[in-house]
Amino acid sequence: MIEVFDEGLHSGVNLALDVGKILYRDKTKHQDLVIFENTTFGRVMSLDGAIQTTEHDEYMYHEMFAHVPILAHGNVGKVLIIGGGDGGAARQVLKHRNIDVTLVDIDRTVIDLSIKFLPNIHGGAFDDPRMSVIVADGCRFAKETSDKWDVIIIDSTDPHGPGEVLYTQEFYADCKNCLTDGGIIVTQNGVPFVQSEELRNSYDRLGALFQDVSFYMATIPSYVGGPLAFGWATDNKKLRNMSEGDLANRFLEAEIETHYYTPDVHKASFVLPLYVKKILGAEKP
Ligand code: SAM
Repeated sequence: MIEVFDEGLHSGVNLALDVGKILYRDKTKHQDLVIFENTTFGRVMSLDGAIQTTEHDEYMYHEMFAHVPILAHGNVGKVLIIGGGDGGAARQVLKHRNIDVTLVDIDRTVIDLSIKFLPNIHGGAFDDPRMSVIVADGCRFAKETSDKWDVIIIDSTDPHGPGEVLYTQEFYADCKNCLTDGGIIVTQNGVPFVQSEELRNSYDRLGALFQDVSFYMATIPSYVGGPLAFGWATDNKKLRNMSEGDLANRFLEAEIETHYYTPDVHKASFVLPLYVKKILGAEKP
């Protein structure tokens, strides 16, 4: 009989994936980690029962996480990734010349097993001399560091278990202290159709700290319930409204290869459907 992985992240709706070969299944110091093969998604990694990333759709998530803030900003030299132990976000950031990455993940085992089993996702990012890896709680790191970054990517698990602290206003305030002037924070903010409370919470918490807070969206097949929202927070209001022409010039100049991101997808991803605006408190388009 075929084993089925039932995600069980949301009440009343489940993503069920056929499990082929199981590459790893054990408890790490912080989380339950499973890596298995699925015919549609390729290798799949789950933490505490929630799918984190899959070989075949990760580019949609990681390209939008990295290239949207980097190309909107236009002058990024340093990126901090909190979480992201699979290395997928780092791989996309490192496609840009002259950017250094600091990656802070709480779970050494996630990093080690991603290096071993998910090379198609990290693409060698952990061997790049521009990448520094720190194993620590991102919340504590953001409070204690005196360093600053142009873009912070909060590539966290959902707000349960060790990732919960990465959705607090205190953590967002500490991240703000780690940003250079006009820097941008982007967050993994869940699927609004099934995680409306998380969207609203992040909107309120980031909104109390930054002059421009919004979300952009992408449909990623392994996230059940519709498009995923990425949070966006910065004090530079111009960055969200960069023209498609300017983005296209920067994209050309960066000479990066993508499979999902294009400048027009970038622009369009900030157009929020009315049900999402209503979650954020706007009754009209
Ligand atoms: N794409 C994913 C999702 O949608 O949930 C996130 C992927 S990434 C693998 C999530 C990472 O966040 C994990 O490697 C986990 O160890 C890390 N993490 C969770 N809590 C953390 C914390 N407090 N500080 C740093 N990293 C944390």
